[in-house]
Amino acid sequence: MAGILFIISAPSGSGKSTLVSQLRTLVEGLDFSISYTTRAPRGSEENGREYYFTTREEFERMVAAGDFLEWAEVFGNYYGTAVSALQHAKDLGKDLLLDIDVQGALQVMKKMPQAVSIFILPPSPQVLERRLRNRSAAENMTAETIIEKRLNGAKGELKMVWDYQYALVNDVLDEAVTEMRAVVLYERGLRDDGIEELAKGCRTNAASAKLQAVLGAFGE
Ligand code: ADP
Ligand code: 5GP
Repeated sequence: MAGILFIISAPSGSGKSTLVSQLRTLVEGLDFSISYTTRAPRGSEENGREYYFTTREEFERMVAAGDFLEWAEVFGNYYGTAVSALQHAKDLGKDLLLDIDVQGALQVMKKMPQAVSIFILPPSPQVLERRLRNRSAAENMTAETIIEKRLNGAKGELKMVWDYQYALVNDVLDEAVTEMRAVVLYERGLRDDGIEELAKGCRTNAASAKLQAVLGAFGE
């Protein structure tokens, strides 16, 4: 394994976690970096599985100690990727997936220009709102302010899509998973079974008409 670093970003509720977990059942050798966050666990989340849940004081101590490859404040909470995640994946001989927001992604792109960046878009604001509401209902927390914050945040984040190498629209889940798998395998050097064509079609410049249409629906 080449030890490739994949940066994956998406507005909250686009389906990034769903896509990443399906991808990991289909593609071997992918390690997932568990971030640190100061937000409270949601639904069935467990410490050390989705995130390491920590306090602001402890997070700030880690920042000062240089423990983070990148970190950012997102929706009023801190999130960060531990430097140790890179070594952990390397020790396992795996590629590493970072699920991070656009601010963190820009930091990693600067520090590690060889990283492969993938942006996931929801098909429309209406679908994004529905997904955010469905998820909140499933987790018994329909705080209107949280949903509104995330919907408004999406608009600003989507503008950043052009800084990424690849972009996928998560409309039909199976199709988005197939595209994401193609990008990962293409970056690993695979060229058969239509992988190359599918991956190249997901490059932001190749998919620009489709991406512009989504941005337009969000009023961008
Ligand atoms: P994110 O990690 O981007 O915040 P999630 O993976 O938690 O988003 O997905 C948000 C909600 O949308 C979840 O309820 C999930 O089951 C649903 N979802 C994700 N992808 C799709 C899809 N392609 N079609 C329909 N629902 C989806
Ligand atoms: P959520 O609270 O929905 O799990 O995540 C909110 C946002 O924080 C998402 O955009 C997610 O990608 C981002 N995020 C999660 N972990 C990290 C991290 O380690 N660093 C940064 N910069 N963003 C993160």
